[in-house]
Amino acid sequence: MESAGTPLQVDAKGAWLKRGGGAVLLFTAAGLGYLAATFGFAAGMGAFIAGIAGLSLLGASFSFAGTGPCPSCGATLVDVPRDLPGYPCPGCGEYAIVRGACLHRTPPEHVASSSTYAIAVSPEQAPLFGGMCVSCGAPATTTVARQMRKTVVGAPGVGRVVRTWPLPLPVCAAHAQLDSLGNPRGVTSSQGTLLVSSYAAWRAAHARRA
Ligand SMILES: [Zn+2]
Ligand SMILES: [Zn+2]
Repeated sequence: MESAGTPLQVDAKGAWLKRGGGAVLLFTAAGLGYLAATFGFAAGMGAFIAGIAGLSLLGASFSFAGTGPCPSCGATLVDVPRDLPGYPCPGCGEYAIVRGACLHRTPPEHVASSSTYAIAVSPEQAPLFGGMCVSCGAPATTTVARQMRKTVVGAPGVGRVVRTWPLPLPVCAAHAQLDSLGNPRGVTSSQGTLLVSSYAAWRAAHARRA
């Protein structure tokens, strides 16, 4: 098992900023609501929108957001939720496990319960996974091709150009069995970012040593 983690400090300042912003929006909503009686629909709509925004900001302020040191490099991580399978450190790039408001170092061989570790991929270059299964990190015995999609151009008038390409993913025999969505277990992708569940395979793709 892993060692006891580092407790997160509650980001009280951030929470109060959100609470202040929420209160301002609610105050605006009340004012617009009052104007709506005189000026009609537009002010009424404004009051409704400001009210909804204010309430959601207030709600966010009461959800947990903590601050603590990256277990790998010590850089300060901010806005960390109470529980998360992987929180990427902007300093060193390693992922921290957040459990019960404590930060834990991700063991090099860790396998997350869902797709967690992000790898940017392009049509020109397939990542190398060190011969490891992207789902579990065991020696890969075969590959499955994942169809990647990425919107390359979205400029007005040009239209959207979507590139698709097959990305070979190394998998062990067990994870060559695809799930109902056609994925190996713990593998998803979105817009040229591949998410895998094997931390060892992710580390290999980024050429990190244990
Ligand atoms: Zn770090
Ligand atoms: Zn596997």
